[in-house]
Amino acid sequence: MGIGPEPLRGLAYGRYGCIQLAIGSGRCKDNPRRCPNVEQVPAMPKEILRTRVLIVGAGPVGLALAADLGWRGIPCTIIEQSDGVIHHPRATAVNARSMEFFRRWGITDLVRKAGTPPDFPHTVLFVTSLQGFEIARIERPGHGGIRPTETSPERPQRCNQLWLDPILRDLATGFSCVTLRYRWRFESFVEDQEGIVATVHDLGTDEVRTITADYLVDCSGGHSTLRQSLGIEMRGSPDIDYNLSIFVRAPDLWKYHDKGKAALIHFIAAQGPRRNLVLLDGRELWRFGVTGKEFYDDPERVDANRLFDEVAGEETPREIISVRRWSARDVVADRYRLGRVFLAGDAAHLNHPDGGFGLNTGLGDIADLGWKLSAALEGWGGSLLLDSYESERRPVGLRNVRQAEENLQIKKRRQIESTIGDSTTEGAEARHRMRAAILRDSTRNYVTDGTALGYTYDPSPICWGDGSPPTADTITEYRPSSRPGSRAPHAWLADGRSTLDLFGSGFTLLRFGDDPPAADSIVAAFARRGMPLSEDRIQERNVRSLYERSVVLVRPDGHVAWRSDDLPDDPLALADRVRGAG
Ligand SMILES: Cc1cc2nc3c(=O)[nH]c(=O)nc-3n(C[C@H](O)[C@H](O)[C@H](O)COP(=O)(O)OP(=O)(O)OC[C@H]3O[C@@H](n4cnc5c(N)ncnc54)[C@H](O)[C@@H]3O)c2cc1C
Repeated sequence: MGIGPEPLRGLAYGRYGCIQLAIGSGRCKDNPRRCPNVEQVPAMPKEILRTRVLIVGAGPVGLALAADLGWRGIPCTIIEQSDGVIHHPRATAVNARSMEFFRRWGITDLVRKAGTPPDFPHTVLFVTSLQGFEIARIERPGHGGIRPTETSPERPQRCNQLWLDPILRDLATGFSCVTLRYRWRFESFVEDQEGIVATVHDLGTDEVRTITADYLVDCSGGHSTLRQSLGIEMRGSPDIDYNLSIFVRAPDLWKYHDKGKAALIHFIAAQGPRRNLVLLDGRELWRFGVTGKEFYDDPERVDANRLFDEVAGEETPREIISVRRWSARDVVADRYRLGRVFLAGDAAHLNHPDGGFGLNTGLGDIADLGWKLSAALEGWGGSLLLDSYESERRPVGLRNVRQAEENLQIKKRRQIESTIGDSTTEGAEARHRMRAAILRDSTRNYVTDGTALGYTYDPSPICWGDGSPPTADTITEYRPSSRPGSRAPHAWLADGRSTLDLFGSGFTLLRFGDDPPAADSIVAAFARRGMPLSEDRIQERNVRSLYERSVVLVRPDGHVAWRSDDLPDDPLALADRVRGAG
């Protein structure tokens, strides 16, 4: 990028919106009093730090992007305004697709060991209280532990961000091309033809720094000021839930009630707020959730011990570690890309956390964006490739957020009879009716293999459709498909590897059976365009029938780009299409 002593001119985006400015003069052409961020732009930056991709926010999504880019050898810098220490738990549920991403980065053992012990049941329990009545339970035998399922080499796991974020941080910073800076706050940026010039406040030294980059990725979460400065709106349900999150230590909680071990416990009471307990470490740590505006508005006055007494009983030992308030909405950003800026994770979509979609959807964003940024920087990505991030990922964001919203509405519509906690015949009947309603309507909230593995990029500007009918979009059950746009299915190979283990950082051409079409013309076309491609022959018949065609081209993110029983008429057109130049 040509950054010289001349003042830079361009569009600047800061915490207060878009302004025209000339860096160097430090003057805003608009009324400076309406553009206070101008004060934060240095008159003459002492040192300009250069990177290829600047990532704002070292939450799990930013860290995962840094790790993915590092894994691909792309220099990047990730800045985080906090010191990186996590004091309070948020996400715990890691779905099978996220575990598959972790498998590719070699961290699944760490995630499994850090999270809930393998023998702890992932049961979802519904009770009036732990000392009261059990209403229903949803078992999840496909979750946790190490035995593979039929559809994935990885099972969903429970690993809270208390442990997951440090694993991702260590992974990212293990790559020499990744730079992580804590206590650096992104303030504003200028974009011109050649790239991004960002202004960052080093909170440790109270200095203003300048970072230049080819691309800027906003992973700064739901309150992103960067997104707001771009004028990108979040749209969706206006329904806001107000919550308290209470971090509790309650060792061996299950010894103080008769309901057994469960990973999630929902409390259903005739009166009172919605409440739940979320298991964190399988021993003593829990997140106690309480919904209600009255708690949110005045957390200082909340008696967390009394609330805990109500659900667990006064005799149950506990220590309240911390209390935080948070609100939940189901919204998606209008745009995922504007020029050289991309939005990912909570900066792009927010949802109620019950189904465990937020972090997992954010990791899906990263899997899509990482290879596209890498292709653009390596020079083989076409002009449509980066645009395809929005056209592929935004529909997935809308889909998952819609599902979270539907789940919430189902829960809110459910009538709780006044006798539900009574030890009478009426009480038993009320619980029976509630049980039937929960089993009918709520399994989709907790068993989400279809949501996790079944999303497809259809239509996609960079996949080559084959005219086959779309696969049904399901929630609880995942139906494997090699239809272009789908996640390439998992199957075990004779040598013990999963088909997913064949997919590296480039494209993979799978050829099935004893006499598959020769791949030479495709290999030559990809080589001509400088595109990374590896080839694999697969003899196993069951895998051939799962993949449905003789030749299947898989993208660097493990999604199918093209499939056929024959060679393409124009291999160069295929290469151009899947690199975003078609
Ligand atoms: C109670 C609760 C339970 C949840 N449970 C689940 C679950 O089980 N499964 C699931 O998938 N999801 C769950 N989620 C959602 C999940 O926590 C989020 O989706 C996830 O943390 C989003 O990650 P992120 O990296 O996009 O954003 P964040 O985690 O919000 O990280 C953004 C980072 O950017 C930093 N930042 C912000 N502005 C700046 C700036 N100007 N400069 C530098 N840094 C900045 C912030 O300090 C922060 O560290 C839950 C959420 C909540 C609240």
